Amino acid sequence: MGNENIESKEIRSVAIYMRVSTSLQEVQDTINNQRLALVEYADNHNFKIIKEYADEGWSGDILKRPGLDQLRLDAQNKLWDAVLIYDPDRLARRYSYQEVIMDELTERGIETLFFTIDPIKNENDQLMYEVRGSFARYERTKIAERFRLGKLRRVKSGYVLTTEAPYGYDYVLNKGKKGTPDYVPGHYEVNEREAKIVKEIFSWVADLKITLRSIVRKLQELGIKPRKSKRGVWNTSTLSTLLRNETYIGIAHWGATISTVPIKPLKDDRYRKVKKTSRRMRPKNDWHKIVVPAIVDEDVFVRAGLQLKKNFELLGRNKKNDYLLAGVIFCSCGHRRTGEGPQHGKHLYYRCTDRVYSFPLPPNCREKGINARIADEAIWQRVKTIMSTPELMLKQIERYIKEGRNKGASGSTIDMESTQTELVKLQVQEDRIAVLYSRELITLKKFQEYVEPVREKIRQFEDQIIKANLEKTPKNEILLPNPKEIAIFAREAEHKLENLDFGRKQLLVRKAVNKIIASPGTLQVYGFLNLSEIHVFLFTNDRHCRFTKCGKIHAF
Ligand SMILES: [Zn+2]
Repeated sequence: MGNENIESKEIRSVAIYMRVSTSLQEVQDTINNQRLALVEYADNHNFKIIKEYADEGWSGDILKRPGLDQLRLDAQNKLWDAVLIYDPDRLARRYSYQEVIMDELTERGIETLFFTIDPIKNENDQLMYEVRGSFARYERTKIAERFRLGKLRRVKSGYVLTTEAPYGYDYVLNKGKKGTPDYVPGHYEVNEREAKIVKEIFSWVADLKITLRSIVRKLQELGIKPRKSKRGVWNTSTLSTLLRNETYIGIAHWGATISTVPIKPLKDDRYRKVKKTSRRMRPKNDWHKIVVPAIVDEDVFVRAGLQLKKNFELLGRNKKNDYLLAGVIFCSCGHRRTGEGPQHGKHLYYRCTDRVYSFPLPPNCREKGINARIADEAIWQRVKTIMSTPELMLKQIERYIKEGRNKGASGSTIDMESTQTELVKLQVQEDRIAVLYSRELITLKKFQEYVEPVREKIRQFEDQIIKANLEKTPKNEILLPNPKEIAIFAREAEHKLENLDFGRKQLLVRKAVNKIIASPGTLQVYGFLNLSEIHVFLFTNDRHCRFTKCGKIHAF
């Protein structure tokens, strides 16, 4: 690392950066303590603090934090000479991550100073810093493991760890002093009122073979509310979990699930504070059993389980119907519409999901279902017609250009030069991550994790540049395909579109259509035909793509 010039430059202004994670071991280590130490350090060295950055509740495993991102952005404008941080650990957990950020700052002539470490002046310091980093990590792993072992020990001595008892039980906190005869560890006790309802629920399923939906309705009519629910009603998934919970036959479990990074995050949040937001089941052999008082007989429990399985099969969920517009069709009330299987052998419908969310309360939305076969056919014909009719495509292009020009006139242009510079910087950053990976400083998983946000930004900048170019050139002759190209495309498309299977049809519709807002009688369609992309999609055999210059067409 090129740190030789550190002493030659005088530091006058600094930024301070602070971070606290949510993990229990670090509760006392507040942002404020870090801040006080840093302010004192700055005072002692006559540094002027220009700006403060903080990430509260962010894991050090994640580099994409709002405070740190802002700091890196400001570093580009060189608002300060150095960044002052309490400890390398606050910057990032892993040494390789720390190095990436520090390299980035060094390249901009910005120094990184740590309260807990003397400035790195030579190779020896550097080595110490690296060794220190790996020890810190080792320590953390050790603490986490100790913490887990401590919990496990308490479970083994009959101590129930969850404070949240399942419906039907109360959690009783430990009583008395540990080691004395009157000591009682924390445990579950039967809540008689709730236990009666649990018994009823099991019996309804096991003996009367009632469906979960009917039970939801029944409980609603009886005015029996679940413990926690915004709407004050039960739902089928809570009931299904309840009916499978072995606690009711006297066996509670600890360690059945483990927190993990979600495979399919619900929301594509730009920032996520904690990585492991999802839970995964551990193999059943690894569960730790805790004996608790039973509420239902094992026989009832088993029969209820069998009945649930039967109900599920009767629902016919395994039967797949093909819905061309799945995922893109919405109701005028804003909720999604989903394909619903044939009701009593009748037609397929796209129905508003509002009623699903409202159940068992009456739905807010009164919109009727849309006949799926008719809607699918209408949209498919429209896509096909546009793609195989040059005149229609040209008309759409004209409209698009006109709209683009109007937008351009309203003055939403970007600074092309700085965008280009940013783009180059990002590409350099991407390369740097690749180097980290090739030097085996990070694993492939970490590499992907780290490179993805950079690539995402690169894509955004590229899009901006393309858009700005479109707005700049009124005639768009350079970027959009010419009539001859469109004619060729349309002729080939007409033929290809006839022979698509359902899967490819659906893919194509998803490529072309962003959103359909459907009410009975009207389908409002929003979408783009990205000719180059669709060309590649339809004509994957021709390696050369005629529409390399990206022709986007407003399709509808
Ligand atoms: Zn609706």
